Amino acid sequence: MEERIIFFDTTLRDGEQSPGASMNSAEKLRIAKQLERLGVDVMEAGFPASSPGDFESVQMIAGKVRNVEVTALARTAKDDIDQAWAAVREAAHPRIHTFIATSDLHLKYKLNMSRDEVVSEAVESVKYARSLCDSVEFSTEDGTRSDRDFLCRIFEAVIAAGATTINLPDTVGYITPEEFTKLIAYVREHTPNIHQAVMSVHCHNDLGLATANTLAGVEAGARQVEVTMNGIGERAGNTSLEEVAMNLFTHKDQMSFTTGINTREIYPSSRLVSMITGIVVQPNKAIVGANAFAHEAGIHQDGVLKNPLTYEIMRPDTVGLSSNRMVLGKHSGRHAFDDKLRQMGYELSGEELNSLFGKFKQLADKRKEILEEDIEALVAEEILRIPDVYELLYLNVVSGTTAVPTATVRLKIRDEEAQLAGFGVGPIDATFNTIVKMIGSDAKLMRFSVNAITGGMDAQGEVTARLQENGAVVLGKGTDSDIITASAKHLSTD
Ligand SMILES: [Zn+2]
Repeated sequence: MEERIIFFDTTLRDGEQSPGASMNSAEKLRIAKQLERLGVDVMEAGFPASSPGDFESVQMIAGKVRNVEVTALARTAKDDIDQAWAAVREAAHPRIHTFIATSDLHLKYKLNMSRDEVVSEAVESVKYARSLCDSVEFSTEDGTRSDRDFLCRIFEAVIAAGATTINLPDTVGYITPEEFTKLIAYVREHTPNIHQAVMSVHCHNDLGLATANTLAGVEAGARQVEVTMNGIGERAGNTSLEEVAMNLFTHKDQMSFTTGINTREIYPSSRLVSMITGIVVQPNKAIVGANAFAHEAGIHQDGVLKNPLTYEIMRPDTVGLSSNRMVLGKHSGRHAFDDKLRQMGYELSGEELNSLFGKFKQLADKRKEILEEDIEALVAEEILRIPDVYELLYLNVVSGTTAVPTATVRLKIRDEEAQLAGFGVGPIDATFNTIVKMIGSDAKLMRFSVNAITGGMDAQGEVTARLQENGAVVLGKGTDSDIITASAKHLSTD
């Protein structure tokens, strides 16, 4: 019988630790629902002790996700574990995930604890967590830089205390695949009760080896992989879910495992995460990049037309990217539109559906065909957005090689309408300056990016921008077929 690889997704916890990726509860829940459709086995919904907001979103997700184990992170402290448990206890399948650092470097400079103290604290915490919850995971932070005999000692102790999963993280993204294979093999050989727990690996991509290391871990006996969508996470990110999933799928002959992943949900999940976090996927990113299935060289194009297998090791539709993604047009009715939304996993209220259908009709008048990405963008624009304090009523921008870029903006600010014109070095700068003046803000634009969501000249543009005001950094998103309008939409939201 084929063994199963458990996909532990930490997009909502480690992924959220990407600089600037913070999400609100509604956005996290939307991702959680998509991860459920994608078929992850475990989702780490957050770190409840880190903030009240995190606690609330973990609790909300635990109450609404039914088919996935929901876990929360906790340091080895009673209070952290209590909070993690309070947040996940309503889940259909709860798990507590507790951790402590085990490398001498962390023991000396961070924890100021001896190895004996670390073992006894880990054991106490796992015992306590097990008294609350049947599924308990224990992680050795900075595991790959820890003494290997100490790892065996602490794993043996926590398994005896009731840990059901033990995780060996490469927290700093330092190890190589060969060394990782050796380390895991050593740990498995020298921890007498190792077979009473599932072994897990958690890698970071600082040297670009996260996927390779994770697969090396699987080869050495790990049966849980900790991953994030698009590989987002601290610094250079975590292991990317889609890369591990598609490696297992494509190399079934060498790595014969089953997984719960529905590969066709990979691309929609990737889009949702990038849209919500504002972290754009690089075009050459494996599996989910815009160019991942684009063939540029004539010889390649010719070959693919004759037989896709000449240059494609996997089919785009396997990851949910079908070549014919035209789904709806201007003659599609409300019912077809609602059906499509449901297929895509969006269940909207009657009122939401009405307002979205109106926007869909407007877009369908401008474009011949509406793709799933367009619909996603509409949902993000109309439904997921926080109620606007400002509404953009009118925008006229004059720009060109001889004109001074000028923007005329009319905004509804709460219930009052206001209008102003302003200049800038370019059309977006002019729009930004004018809006900032109108709303009396001293915000500074820190980063600005425009991304075409769909192909072609009439693609919808997605703008993400990071602003700083009074020391607070905020992220905004706007979508429109006109990128300047998209920019203004986002600017007038914050
Ligand atoms: Zn991590």
